[in-house]
Parts: sequence; C-alpha cells; structure tokens
Amino acid sequence: MSALGDEIKAMIASDGPITVETFMELALAHPDYGYYMNRDPFGAEGDFTTAPEISQMFGELLGLWAAEVWSTMGRPNPVRLVELGPGRGTLMSDALRAARIVPAFRAAVDVTLIEISPALANIQHEALLTSGAPIAWRATLSEAPEGPAIILANEFLDALPVRQFVRRGGRWRERMVRLDGSGQLAFGLSSDPVPDIKVDADEGATLEVNAVAHRFMFELGARLVKQGGTALFVDYGHGATGFGDTLQALRAHRMVDPLVNPGEADITAHVDFAAMARSARATGASIYGPIDQGDFLRALGIDMRTRALAQRAPPERADEFEQARRRLVGKSDGEMGALFKAMVVANRSVPPPPGFQPYPARQA
Ligand code: SAH
Repeated sequence: MSALGDEIKAMIASDGPITVETFMELALAHPDYGYYMNRDPFGAEGDFTTAPEISQMFGELLGLWAAEVWSTMGRPNPVRLVELGPGRGTLMSDALRAARIVPAFRAAVDVTLIEISPALANIQHEALLTSGAPIAWRATLSEAPEGPAIILANEFLDALPVRQFVRRGGRWRERMVRLDGSGQLAFGLSSDPVPDIKVDADEGATLEVNAVAHRFMFELGARLVKQGGTALFVDYGHGATGFGDTLQALRAHRMVDPLVNPGEADITAHVDFAAMARSARATGASIYGPIDQGDFLRALGIDMRTRALAQRAPPERADEFEQARRRLVGKSDGEMGALFKAMVVANRSVPPPPGFQPYPARQA
C-alpha cells in the first residue's frame, strides 16, 4: 500500500469512514503524497494524455479563439488570460505562440496560471520561459488579478472531488470509504440516509454531486458578471444530468482500482455539464454549449490547420497531424471528439463566442 494509503487507513481507523469526496481530495491533492503534488503525470511515459499533449493544434486554436473573444469583448487592456489546472503548460505555450498573429492582443495579455501543484508549476515555468508574456502563479481563482478575463480550462473540472450517493431502500445514502474486515480500504454506505436530496431513482442507482465544482462555478460566474469576461471549459462528461458511477482511476494508461495505492493513480469523475451550467447561470452569466469537442475544434478550423502543418512537415511526419486531428475530433470509441465537450460561461454583454454560434459545424 502507498504511503498515502497507510495514512488514510490510520485516519479511518481513528475517526471512521470518509466520503468519496474526501478520499478523492486526499488522493489528488494531499500536500505530501497527493497524485498531482510531486510528479509529471502526462504523456506516453505517464498515466494519461490530454488534448494539448496530443497536438500543438489544440492550444493554437484556443489561443486564436481567445484573441477573437478579446476582440468581441471590446479589446480590454489589460486582459487577464487565466488558465485553470495548466498541467505541463503546453496549452498556454501553444496558445501564446499562435496569438502572436494578433499583436494587440498579445500586448494586452497578462497571464495567471491557477495551479495547486508545486511540481507542475515548476514544469509550467520551464515551458513558458520564452513565451514573452508576464506570467504569475496562484493557487485559487480568487487570487487572480481583477478585471476582464479570458479563462481557459482543459480537464480541470474532472479533477475536482465528487460526492456519490446510492439509492437503497427508497433513500439516498452517501458512498463512503471504510476499512473492511481485513483492514483494507473498501467502499461502503453511510449508516444514516441523506435527507435533503429530493431526486427519485431506481434501487441501486448512483447519483454524483460535485459540490466543490458547484461552488467554483458560483465564484467564476460571479466574477465574470461583475468584472467581465469569458471562460471556456473542455472536459469529458455528459450534457444531461443522469445516474451512474463515473469515478475512475488511471495509472500508466490503464484503469485501476481507485482504492489501491491512492496517490499513485489519477482519479477523476465525469463532468455533469448540465449541473455546472445551472450553477453558473444562477449567477446571471450566459452559457453556451456544451457542444462536442470535435464540432468545436472543426468550427475553429482544425481541418485546415492540419493540412497546413502536414504540408510543411517532412514527409515521414506529415501523417502525425492527421492522426492527431482524428484523435481529437473523431467520434468513435477511443477518440475524444464526442466524449469531450466544450462549454462557455460568459458575461452577458459578450456575443456568442467562436465555435458556439448558431450555425452547424463545418464538415471536413
Ligand atoms: N490542463 C492540463 C492538465 C489537466 S490535469 C492538460 O490539459 O494537459 C489537471 C490539472 O489541474 C493539473 O495541473 C492539476 O495539478 C490541476 N489541479 C487539480 N486540482 C486543482 C485545484 N483544485 N486548483 C488548481 N489546480 C488544480
């Protein structure tokens, strides 16, 4: 068992079972042993691969998207370009490079990276050394400088800890992590039912509620309404609230049991975009989407960009761009185009952002 696993067992032995939310929070963000806190989990060598790590095109298209959004916001100067959970800094690095073709935007931008992991902040620092933009690191959005903002978040919401409730005997009980008879971590249910969930469901159904993400959406929406701006969330998840257990742990690109060696695997839950939209809308912000990542990237011109990059590449590498494009926009199993969604939260004065305008996505 991992060091964190032993610590969690000791915690449960002395204080009783913990919620899935607490378990996930500890597994990802425990200051000493949390999964994100002291490693680089990305890429072929790591545990999972994200869109910006698949291809430079993802960050480039988001950089141009941000420049366009800035222009529809009335070209504020300065504009806060904020990224939530920037991983290796690849998205921001590609975005800033691509945005050079809009010099007035580049000149107006100051960048804030919201990151809890000191190890990843170091890697981001390296990645952005030559970006030429002023960059600051903060642990929470509330510490970012005030003013009109463009906020980017890829695979951020899925890392926020989720609560789970299971329908038993006509009541909801919270799913907990406890110790089994041999002292190992095991799932169980709270002994008391949870009185304040009014939703009905079939026996055995699982309901996920991301209270941390809801609070975050309230804070973000309120900021955008008061200070102006637009936020783009790209993540895997569903457009309509439903039932089901989506908690998953990934290690070296394989699914593993989330309770075995906590702190050594990435743990995520699908994002309930409808629920996130409800919280953000309650603040008075506008919501666009969610739409499929594939449709979004196509509307931003990924097909053209793929051809341009392939033409300039040496012949043996030309195919790489097409393979990356297909992985990002394809809608078959194992591709990201339909599993991942894009959603925007914006100040009401901002017109529909690129990719979310009411016309059908361009076809290849
Ligand atoms: N956006 C990157 C990384 C996604 S992984 C990419 O697409 O490659 C999730 C990122 O969010 C990591 O950088 C992780 O350290 C960070 N993170 C997780 N929880 C966070 C929190 N509560 N506040 C800020 N950053 C967080």
